Amino acid sequence: MTISKDTEQQISHEEGLYLRQTYFDKAKRIVIKVGSAVLTDENGIDEKVIANIARDLSFLKKSGREIILVSSGAVAAGKRNLTLTDNIKIGLVEKQALAAIGQPSLMQSYVVAFEKCQQRVAQVLLTHSDLENRDSYLRVRSTLLALFRFDTIPILNENDTVAVEELRFGDNDMLAALIANLIDADMFICLTDVVGLYTANPRTDPSAQPVYTVREVTKEIEAMAGNLKSILGTGGMQSKIRAAKIVATGSGSSFIGPGKKDSILQHLFSGEMIGTFFLPSAAKAKPRKQWIEHVLRPKGNLVLDGGASVALTENGCSLLPSGIIEVRGVFGVGDAVQCLDRSGKIIATGLVNYNSTDVNSIKQHHSHDIETILGVKDYDEVIHRDNLVLL
Ligand code: GLU
Repeated sequence: MTISKDTEQQISHEEGLYLRQTYFDKAKRIVIKVGSAVLTDENGIDEKVIANIARDLSFLKKSGREIILVSSGAVAAGKRNLTLTDNIKIGLVEKQALAAIGQPSLMQSYVVAFEKCQQRVAQVLLTHSDLENRDSYLRVRSTLLALFRFDTIPILNENDTVAVEELRFGDNDMLAALIANLIDADMFICLTDVVGLYTANPRTDPSAQPVYTVREVTKEIEAMAGNLKSILGTGGMQSKIRAAKIVATGSGSSFIGPGKKDSILQHLFSGEMIGTFFLPSAAKAKPRKQWIEHVLRPKGNLVLDGGASVALTENGCSLLPSGIIEVRGVFGVGDAVQCLDRSGKIIATGLVNYNSTDVNSIKQHHSHDIETILGVKDYDEVIHRDNLVLL
């Protein structure tokens, strides 16, 4: 698919340069994610890359910024340790075991490299369920902020060894984006093995142009990420674009660019036009609503009638039982569910005050009937508008 250069969304080269300089200058809290493709070569972890990252990040830290590094590479480091031959079948369990072997040696490489730059680091391993629980989500935030006060660069990775398949972040792009929003980062920098976004696949289309600045992640931009699928492997660029979109809603900007380039961050912060830069959205979503929308995974669906759909989307109302016509899935009190209109379009996501059995019993009834039906009434609303995010 070839896409016009208009996809730069009418940002001229000069304006793009100016915007970058402005955002890079004022970025004080930054999450930097480095992928396995950058960190590894055919022999496993590439120590030269680690040394380069340590130098670059220490440089940023010493210029008064707060930095988090999200680093992959545990599985790759584990493979190097075991010197596995190609004919050994590596499934999920083996990968989890390899991560357990590789994570300490990955950290060891970082500790040595950062020590040379007189910079202290810390290890933080997280699973998705650590962020799904609101209390531990906020606890992670306090710990990371305390590490900043200790002048430390936290190095994060998914705790692969205990992560359950369906609850995984999926990849560290998502982990990094959620952490960026959790700590109100000004910027998310994703270092990868591509130079940035192109209007078409540069390998097959000679007219492909680099896209330096993206005002908003639209469908067109998402389609461009699809162009690079063949280069990066399944989903590669798409998950990075999704991460940039999530960070934009938290009012952070994002950068996607080549991680193997020497002193990439120093080049970037001195204003060089490399990679692709994504501007933040003008309006910042409330932190609790960001958590509901991006961290929680919906456990079911509620289909709403026309009146309830309009009440939610146009009048900012809570969801009452009378507007619910169908309940799908099994969920408990406090779980996230999606609200669909009659045509099946997702219009909102929110936290329910009643479990799926109770919602089934009270649906299409007035709130004053709840006590008669259930024997007890905790709330008038099935979803209070403070716990509802319109999509
Ligand atoms: N957590 C994995 C590792 O350290 C990598 C996940 C990813 O590549 O996004 O090996």
